[in-house]
Amino acid sequence: MNLTRIFKRHRTFPHGIHPLGHKGLTAGRAIRRLPFAPEMIIPLSQHRGAPAVSTVVPGQEVVRGEPIAKPGGFVSVPMHSPVTGVVESVDTLVPSAEGPKVRAIVIHTYGAATQEVLYDCPRDLGSMTPKQLVQAVQDAGMVGLGGAAFPSHVKLLPPKGKKIDTLVVNGCECEPYLTCDHRIMLERADSLIKGIEMVLQATGAARAIIGVEDNKLDAVVHIRSRLPAGGRITVEAVETKYPQGAEKMLILALLKQEVPSGGIPADIGVAVYNVGTLAQLGELVPESRGLIERVVTVSGPGIERPGNYLVPIGTPLRFLLQQVRSRSDANEIIMGGPMMGMSVASLDVAVTKGVSGVVVLEPGDPDQLNRPVYPCIKCSACLDACPVSLNPSMLGQLAQAREYGTMEQAYHLNDCFECGCCSYVCPSNIPLTQYFRIAKAINREQGAAA
Ligand code: SF4
Ligand code: SF4
Repeated sequence: MNLTRIFKRHRTFPHGIHPLGHKGLTAGRAIRRLPFAPEMIIPLSQHRGAPAVSTVVPGQEVVRGEPIAKPGGFVSVPMHSPVTGVVESVDTLVPSAEGPKVRAIVIHTYGAATQEVLYDCPRDLGSMTPKQLVQAVQDAGMVGLGGAAFPSHVKLLPPKGKKIDTLVVNGCECEPYLTCDHRIMLERADSLIKGIEMVLQATGAARAIIGVEDNKLDAVVHIRSRLPAGGRITVEAVETKYPQGAEKMLILALLKQEVPSGGIPADIGVAVYNVGTLAQLGELVPESRGLIERVVTVSGPGIERPGNYLVPIGTPLRFLLQQVRSRSDANEIIMGGPMMGMSVASLDVAVTKGVSGVVVLEPGDPDQLNRPVYPCIKCSACLDACPVSLNPSMLGQLAQAREYGTMEQAYHLNDCFECGCCSYVCPSNIPLTQYFRIAKAINREQGAAA
């Protein structure tokens, strides 16, 4: 059966790019469980907002699923132990994928630790109020699993005066190599639907639309087969194009509505959740469980056993790569996908809640982030690619001249969501996106100092 004939039109947004997907390496591989590492590293700051605050002490025994840190504020989440073992240290400084060292709890795993979760309590979601649901989502330690790691409960409460009427569910997974969301849609569709129902209940939204790129039509067909007829959840195929999974692009494709510059989806009555996040919510919240593991795509030419693995949060990258047999000559490791991910400098970095993929590249791979840079040849390829119609060439020149204020005031730097399209198409390999990331950070710091 030619699935593409089932769908007459696939919506999309203007501009964008079509990078090689490399999805075939892992798309057909079912989710498999990874063993526990002998030592787990749980950073207290692996989400947006205030770091969590440790509630355990060195020498204390913990069981799998037990809370070990409480939220540091409303925009923050608790942490739960991924293993049964003993706390080795708290507030230890460990390397992070972003660069600066962060504080973490280190747990020594008991040799015969079981995969069974010993810390849970079933409950009836139907009888819970929206406020109780928001609290339950925060208690689960849930953050956006698509990479943003923004606390999920915060999105359930739109700013004062706004109301959520539509839930947009992001099943695009437009980053090359990554297929964990694809597998979740195929293997955990019922949990996904349960999670969507829960968010509809908590927000009072009238409908949910699941957007899936048309290179995953088997997932579209499967989810549709699990949905009740005439319900308020629908599935739409959208064009396979990068960055279709960016929330503003997906809203534009599905609803033909634009989120205003500097605004958030709630400004137009929309909340966006990733399919992996909702499937986890659908599994964890009814059982009062915390987030202790996630599905990670481990792929790339530098991996002998690519696949989709259920990885305990806090697993050191070194242990993960040993399990999947990373090739010794592989020389670039990216956490996330090659477009928006980060090249990591240390194998002691832990897999955190926001890590959807680990991609290992070999020397000379065109997807490598570190390439020789040449001067701009004014070809305008970056302007044609930018999905929010910025002028990356001009922004790049201003960044090199350290005119960071002008970038923001005259060239809308803050509308850049660092998708990487401009860097990808640039024939001179100018790391435009990196320049913009740095410029935004400097402007933020100067704003805070002022
Ligand atoms: S990184 Fe920013 S400037 Fe470059 S294409 Fe993406 S949104 Fe546009
Ligand atoms: S794509 Fe690169 S070389 Fe071409 S205009 Fe943009 S910055 Fe210059």
